[in-house]
Parts: sequence; C-alpha cells; structure tokens
Amino acid sequence: MKIYLETMGCQMNRLDSELVTGRLLAAGHEITDDRKSADVVLYNTCSVRAHAENKVYSRLGEEARRKGNLKHPPIVGVLGCMVQRQGPALRKRYPCVDIACGPRQLSDLPEMILNAAAGKTTVARDPDRKTARDAFENDPNFDVLDQGRDPCIGPNARAYVRVMRGCDKFCTYCIVPFVRGPEISRKPSAIVEEVRRLVAAGRCEITLLGQTVNSYCHRAGEQTVSFSDLLGRVSDIEGLRRLRFVTSHPIDFGNDILEAMRDLPNICPYVHCPAQSGSDRILKAMGRNYTREQYDDLIDRARAIVPDVVLAGDFIVGFPGESEQDHAASADLIRRSGYKNSFIFKYSPRPGTAGARHLVDDIPAAVKKYRNNELLAVQAEAGLAHHRKLIGRTMEVLVEGPSRRAGKQPKAPANPGHLQLVGRTRGDHIAVFDGPRDLAGQYANIHITGASALTLFGQLR
Ligand code: SF4
Repeated sequence: MKIYLETMGCQMNRLDSELVTGRLLAAGHEITDDRKSADVVLYNTCSVRAHAENKVYSRLGEEARRKGNLKHPPIVGVLGCMVQRQGPALRKRYPCVDIACGPRQLSDLPEMILNAAAGKTTVARDPDRKTARDAFENDPNFDVLDQGRDPCIGPNARAYVRVMRGCDKFCTYCIVPFVRGPEISRKPSAIVEEVRRLVAAGRCEITLLGQTVNSYCHRAGEQTVSFSDLLGRVSDIEGLRRLRFVTSHPIDFGNDILEAMRDLPNICPYVHCPAQSGSDRILKAMGRNYTREQYDDLIDRARAIVPDVVLAGDFIVGFPGESEQDHAASADLIRRSGYKNSFIFKYSPRPGTAGARHLVDDIPAAVKKYRNNELLAVQAEAGLAHHRKLIGRTMEVLVEGPSRRAGKQPKAPANPGHLQLVGRTRGDHIAVFDGPRDLAGQYANIHITGASALTLFGQLR
C-alpha cells in the first residue's frame, strides 16, 4: 500500500517516524509524499502545545470530509502523544480514524494497517504511568522499534539514537511525563550496537536523544552506567566523527559530562540546556527544581571546562504569575548566557498537567506576545554577538544539502554548477555557502565571512 506519514513535534517524534518508515518499508509498503493518492494517511502527533494539536484536528476534519466524498477512502491513522492523551475520546470525536496508536505501540503498526484494511479499527494506548515501569523495564522488546531499525533510512550522514524513553521530572506546564510515560533508560549495549550499525552504514554524526538525555542511568544488578559512562562507550566507536546529545536538564548536568565533552574529541561542544525562566519564583512554580544561581553556575562550569562551548536555551514567557521583574530576569539570563540561539514559547495550559489544574493562566495574550517579542529581540542581539565572534575563522561543517534559498539568491553563485548549501558546525551553528550539490553528506571547511543572529555565511576552502 502507498503510505503518507506526516510528523508534528519534536526530534523524538521525527525519530519515531523514521523508525516506523523502516518498518513499513520492510513490510512491503511504499512511502509517498502525496497525501491525496495515499491508501493510508498517518499523522504522528504532538501534545506539547495546543497549536500542534489544533493542526491535527484540522487535518482530521479534512480526512472526515474526504472519507464522505471518496469511493475508496484512505485508512486514517493517528499516532503518538495525542492518542496517549485522549485515547478512545479521539476516535469518538473523529470516527474517520481507523488506527489510534500510542508511542510505544508503534512496532505493531504494520499489523494494525492490515486489520484496518480488513475493516477492523484499533485503539492501542500505552499502559498508564503506574503500570508502565513494570511493564517495560524488564521487557526485552521494550526498544524493539529501535533495535530493528534499518540504518540506511534517514537524512544523509546524520542519525538520532534514543537512549531513554519518558520523563520523571513533572514540570508543572508539561504533558510529556503523562504521554511518554516514566523515564526508562535503554541498555547501554543496545545503544552501542545501534550506533555501530549506523556508523557502518555511513552515518557519522549521531545525536543521542532523550527527553532529559543527561538523566540517563542504567542499572543492572550492581552495575550502574551513567550518562558520562555512556558517552565514553559510544564515542569509542570507530568511524564516529561527531557525537551530540539533546535535550539536557540543568539539574543533572554534572562536571563528569562536561569533562567527557572536553576529553573525548568526537563529542561536539554544544549544550542545549533549557532554562525556561531566569526568575527563582517562576522556576519554583514551574517545578524545575533548580535556582537561577544553580543555572548560572552550570553555564560558568560549561565555559570553564569545555573550550569553545556553544550554548542554546529554551524559555517560556507568560507563565502564570510572571511579573515584569520575572520577565526582566529571563532577559538578563539570555544576555548573561550568550546563547547561540533560544527557543522561546508563549505559555498555554495543557489539560492534565499540574499547571492547568492549579494555576490560573492570568497573563493576557497581548502581554505574552509583547514579552515573547522582547525575548526574541534580546536573543537576536546575543545570537548576533555570538556569531560575529566567529568571522575570520575556518570551521568544519557537515553539509546537509541545498539551503532553502538555493536558486533564489539575488546574486547567482560565481561558480557555475554551484548552489547555496547549508551545513552545521561542531557547535551546531548553521552555515551557508556556495558549493557543488554533491557535497551533501560530506565534511567541508568553510571560511566565515559574515554573520546574522542565526546564521554564519562563508566560503568553501
Ligand atoms: S523535564 Fe520537564 S519540560 Fe522536559 S520533558 Fe520532562 S517534564 Fe517536560
């Protein structure tokens, strides 16, 4: 069958979609970019923000209309976090849905599609948090989707590898612990084996992925493997040129991880560590379990231990009760940290979280918008200052391919046959430069000649 798969949300969802694609291809299906001609339409969904869920409702509204009008309507499947959050209610609201499949049930998707073709609908949710830890911790098939992956599927040269599932932190604004379940770390041997297979298939830049990746901890009998131990084991794999990890939680960022970054040459000097707020009062209300002082200390330790470390942050504006003073503290934190970039979001209550139950969403939309714009402007200044310091350097990039503006530049590349390419430095800077298309997936040295708040501009050396 021809299958269309659309992915919303975070890197974890993108990885799930990549793994699901491999499984569907192995089952003899074909993947298409054309939703209208597909026999099966799948949406891998996100519940972190209301906006992402609204997008899925709009797609499902379209699918319901199409099903009413077509002689041979497609099978419609909803995957991931929205299924976990809403379960049968989602299908009740949208009877056009034939498959509703939670995040940990994705390995059974080929069978669900066959059942749907035979007229049988599926609603498969993961066990709830209370029972999930027992159900998964000792199950050798817990990471069957990851273990069975086809190492050749995915963007050239780069790959994500999941090291853990779920989250136990329960920040008051966040739905993840409820939809992705308890934090369970994969066996280090399974992770190392997966990376080995990916590297053998030519994927030389690996990003270890976890909701709080640096909280990774695997216990077996007397033996405990920490995240810095895991970094050591993975970085040892021959042929692995770059190793990254996202996303980190400030509270679990010990010096052992920073020292591994300093001492192991293939670990990239890039730390994405969400602060969410610069104000102690708001950090406490968010349940983040660290203070501003502790976060500042992390930034200072990172700069002291890892030469050339590049920092990125996340912030939420308009959290319940956020005063102008709290907001100013976030702006101050961005200036102090000198992030390369920050992801800045406006608070919206997510049903089921402690924030939605106990806090009043009391910051008017206009104030959220203004604070969002103000933090974006402060970040733009910090980002520009950071990127400008790199002008004149020669930096190695892994070339991703043509930039989004390739062919649309006001001035055509000087060299015929060249086009605008985009690559990433070890510090995760985005660099654009002119070069031949076949550089995609390879490393190149770029002389940096200019910078904006988000991008480096350079010339191929
Ligand atoms: S650490 Fe907090 S924000 Fe991150 S996934 Fe866990 S609960 Fe959500």
